[in-house]
Amino acid sequence: MPEFDLIQRYFTRAAPGVELGVGDDAALLRPAPGLALAVSTDMLVEGTHFLPAADPCQLGHKALAVNLSDMAAMGAQPRWVLLSLSMPAEDGAWLEAFSEGFFALASTHDVALIGGDTTRGPLNLCLTILGEVPPGSALRRDGARPGDDIWVSGTLGEAALALAHLQGSVTLPADQLAVCSARLHQPQPRVALGLALRGLASSAIDISDGLLADLGHILARSGVGARVELGALPVSPAGRAGAPGAPGQERVLHCALTGGDDYELCFTAPPARRQAVEALVARLHCPLQRIGTITAAAGCELRDANGDILQMKETGYDHFA
Ligand code: ADP
Ligand code: MG
Repeated sequence: MPEFDLIQRYFTRAAPGVELGVGDDAALLRPAPGLALAVSTDMLVEGTHFLPAADPCQLGHKALAVNLSDMAAMGAQPRWVLLSLSMPAEDGAWLEAFSEGFFALASTHDVALIGGDTTRGPLNLCLTILGEVPPGSALRRDGARPGDDIWVSGTLGEAALALAHLQGSVTLPADQLAVCSARLHQPQPRVALGLALRGLASSAIDISDGLLADLGHILARSGVGARVELGALPVSPAGRAGAPGAPGQERVLHCALTGGDDYELCFTAPPARRQAVEALVARLHCPLQRIGTITAAAGCELRDANGDILQMKETGYDHFA
């Protein structure tokens, strides 16, 4: 199939509100007057971000989900996305399933695919996403202040547990495997939470490389430190299963602190806004947990249930470490 027919068949869908979408030399957009554009790009490479046999429908979902998560972390409303794709051969079944997963999530979030690029090469997906946010209300990494509460959404470490199971280093019971695998393969970006945190959070980041690494980015950009209560971390119940080969509590905690692919939000807010933040749990059906406090002293102190300070060597996933 000629390249343009392929684009027409798999990647061209009605995009309401877009002046000109897929098919010309450039798309034409009409951002709402007065809003700032939030722009972000994320690349997924076979063998690095997903296994060679990855399910194409799940991959279509995940490629968009990780980009939506960046919009969530900025408090931006996602609007438009570009998809640059290189693949070794034209595979109709693969493209069909990939675009199905991609467009299912895109329509859930009302995001329009407005263009991209398609070439032959190793399987590689690069998405660029654009969103809108009122000037001055984006959730940045540099706004955390000493005394702020530190919050995380959802549960941490489940995607890392699923990966550990796939790699054979732990054995999850069937029910936990289902929960953890869904977290790994079909993350649900916290877009509604990000929007609701405008005006409440002093800083935010999405957790893609592990809580310690990503909270570390907030600390570095804000010029502050943190004290984290390990007993408060929302970890997976998978650790409670006592079956042979099951991950122990320590492993589960380690995954929560350093495992990648959670796509939850970590944010800070002044204690005066605690009630307003807690009100979001019911309004958005989104669990939120207060896990610690921002400190003036640099560094991240981890305290266990006895108040003892723990030392962590490994902080998270670093492609070049
Ligand atoms: P050009 O030669 O100008 O690079 P292309 O032939 O690569 O144009 O693309 C033609 C049109 O199809 C453009 O509007 C481009 O944005 C769009 N497009 C190409 N690949 C994709 C894709 N994977 N998803 C969505 N749109 C795509
Ligand atoms: Mg091109």
